[in-house]
Amino acid sequence: MPKYDVVVIGAGAAGLTAASLLAVEGKSVCLLERSPHLGGRGMAVPDEGFTVNVGGHLIEDPGSGLTKVFEHVGKTLQHGEVSAEMPVWDHEKGRWGSIRDRYSGSKGELKKVITALLNTEWDELDRWDDRPLRQWLHQHTDDQGVVDLFEFITVLECMTDHWWDHSASDNLFVRKMHFAERGTAAYSCWPGQGWDGMWADLADAFTAAGGDLRLGTPVERVVIEDGVTKGVAIARQPRVLPNEFFEEEILEADHVICTLPVWHVLDVVDESDLPDWYAEQIKFLAQDKFRIAWIGLYLATEEPVHQIDPRELSTWLRTPNTELSGFMFNQTAMDPTCSPEGTQLHVMGGIFPGEKGRDRAWLRRQTEQFEADVAEMWPGFATTVWRRRHLVFEPSFGVIQKPGLVGMYRPHWKPPLPEGLWFAGETFRSRGIGTDRAARAAVTVVEEYLGRRLATFGDGWRY
Ligand SMILES: Cc1cc2nc3c(=O)[nH]c(=O)nc-3n(C[C@H](O)[C@H](O)[C@H](O)COP(=O)(O)OP(=O)(O)OC[C@H]3O[C@@H](n4cnc5c(N)ncnc54)[C@H](O)[C@@H]3O)c2cc1C
Repeated sequence: MPKYDVVVIGAGAAGLTAASLLAVEGKSVCLLERSPHLGGRGMAVPDEGFTVNVGGHLIEDPGSGLTKVFEHVGKTLQHGEVSAEMPVWDHEKGRWGSIRDRYSGSKGELKKVITALLNTEWDELDRWDDRPLRQWLHQHTDDQGVVDLFEFITVLECMTDHWWDHSASDNLFVRKMHFAERGTAAYSCWPGQGWDGMWADLADAFTAAGGDLRLGTPVERVVIEDGVTKGVAIARQPRVLPNEFFEEEILEADHVICTLPVWHVLDVVDESDLPDWYAEQIKFLAQDKFRIAWIGLYLATEEPVHQIDPRELSTWLRTPNTELSGFMFNQTAMDPTCSPEGTQLHVMGGIFPGEKGRDRAWLRRQTEQFEADVAEMWPGFATTVWRRRHLVFEPSFGVIQKPGLVGMYRPHWKPPLPEGLWFAGETFRSRGIGTDRAARAAVTVVEEYLGRRLATFGDGWRY
């Protein structure tokens, strides 16, 4: 059995990024994925002619993250078109408006805040890990329209359940990137090659550079001896007895990059191999109440449902009868191939407190209520031709981005022990949103492992 330079566990956004970058940098890499599919929480799957996604809706990379990863490995991440319109639901008046109405009288104040943000160094944002976004904003403005703009976007980005409880550092990091790179508060796009095509492209770059990709191959454990990483153990495949135990194959490597989120990482890394405080940091973040959880609906109609523009993203702080904030968009308007001819597939959901994630009765009631609310907010959803309800809890979108749960409050990507073990992914120390955040986390780990910067990523953001 050959010895690899690096074994990467998990072929989601972080694992595919780490593995493909390392392979094109000439390292021998084995990428192991439990599922038969690529993409992890960003996986897209066909269902009765529709393409539905476990997670990924839109990519929030203004250009310096996932897009650069593709560039570095010789591929192109196609940015599909998204409208700049953002209808917001006014729950007090029970009607739709535009976010522009909220800040249109405040352009001077908005400009002042943008300038302050662009003049703030990346490192300075780290000092806001334990303070709310609103506190930072109020240093520069008391204008409620500007505060609304920032906070509604944060709801859209699915970072926290309460509008008043967003971390300043994580949010400002994303806003600064978008203003600096795209001149807009929020930039997102549908991947032009589709979510499945996007992961296939990265996997292709990986294998073309000599990488060894193994799907359907769960890692049983990271092999660690006397504080030193030796590789990983995978179960013999296929298992004949369903309860076969410890019949392992060892893949040797001095370095292992594990991309499992905090909820699952201790399934493959024995916590006694980690410093106790480090393992406790993982367990702290893995609590149910810190998961971004969501009641989701895929609803297909014959006609598109929207307020201003078919490609808009609409958002709300609460629906008429639930306390759930959330967002909605028409996926067919972004990608006509994702629903059968003559249908329009819409995706929407409401964020709920993670501690409710195991309360089936509460979830059922909320789902029914949420469905009724959706039909009230958009009468076009009163008649649908197809539906998929989904619960986002296991897997979760991510760890909620409240003050004290971000930045330096998350476990570092490199524990002091064992030697050779790395953690990449968006639930460990990282900045950004979703898949782009996961990719950036992987870039950070790869650069540190290589001991040098990759020129493609310039000298802008770094953790
Ligand atoms: C409903 C929902 C909506 C979302 N919306 C968006 C969005 O619009 N935009 C966006 O950018 N992001 C979105 N996200 C978040 C995004 O999907 C995640 O941030 C991102 O996919 C995380 O990537 P990752 O590589 O860090 O982790 P994961 O995708 O979780 O990757 C970990 C991988 O490890 C594999 N694995 C687990 N155990 C083992 C094992 N023992 N051996 C081998 N492999 C193993 C898993 O199968 C998985 O593929 C959403 C997520 C959800 C759930």
